[in-house]
Amino acid sequence: MIKLINVNMWDLDISKIANLSHGIKRNWYETRTEEELNRDKKLLFQLWDWGHLSVFEFLQLTFFVRVPIFTARQWMRHRTGRYLEKSLRYTKVNEDLKQYETNNEKANRKMRVIYAFAKEVYEKIIKEHHLKPEEARAILPLGLYTEFYWQIDARNLYNFLRLRLSKHAQEDIRQNAQQILDELSKHPKTKNLYQLYINSLSKEEDINELLNKDN
Ligand SMILES: Cc1cc2nc3c(=O)[nH]c(=O)nc-3n(C[C@H](O)[C@H](O)[C@H](O)COP(=O)(O)OP(=O)(O)OC[C@H]3O[C@@H](n4cnc5c(N)ncnc54)[C@H](O)[C@@H]3O)c2cc1C
Repeated sequence: MIKLINVNMWDLDISKIANLSHGIKRNWYETRTEEELNRDKKLLFQLWDWGHLSVFEFLQLTFFVRVPIFTARQWMRHRTGRYLEKSLRYTKVNEDLKQYETNNEKANRKMRVIYAFAKEVYEKIIKEHHLKPEEARAILPLGLYTEFYWQIDARNLYNFLRLRLSKHAQEDIRQNAQQILDELSKHPKTKNLYQLYINSLSKEEDINELLNKDN
């Protein structure tokens, strides 16, 4: 589950910020005319094409993410993001914590046995052997879900999407990357950014197959 919970400014404000390099100080998004906004949209795409990318770092997006631990490990290799993950030192795993399932029902049946056993032993070593949750978590499977907040700027989010929508990435994180695109398409402040990303991603050979399938 991926939810876009905060965006620090409108995507077209990236153009306002870039204008200062020509000494032009502009109003923020809310007080601009329709004509100005159209010009800003054109400039947004031009900045991207020119590779004037540092200005995209002003736009910061915060997501809530719930994924299996193994996906979170792949995610956190993206060092330019900021992360705050739910701690298994300070909280305990619940009985009903979501667990990863595959498309293979026979395999799932076997996996569920291990998940249930791991959770049972986890509870026992805490209750009967007085281990702290921070020690007991050592036996938890990678398929249990974790939760974190992720903040990333618009430049590095594109890098994440490009790498994780690729057919070389694992299917699970590819689906998460698509959910991020869906969130961007729905949020009023990121609709132009979404268009810009789609435009750029569709030029990537190992991605456009996936985009064409869904759009
Ligand atoms: C298909 C796939 C398979 C992978 N397999 C493995 C694996 O087996 N093992 C593994 O450990 N990782 C693996 N990775 C992770 C990969 O090596 C990257 O760490 C990850 O994709 C993050 O990419 P990034 O460095 O571009 O992103 P970020 O860390 O967000 O960095 C963004 C950009 O900032 C710049 N940057 C960031 N840090 C530095 C720096 N220190 N020096 C110079 N420039 C920097 C680079 O331009 C970089 O592209 C895999 C990734 C993919 C997509």
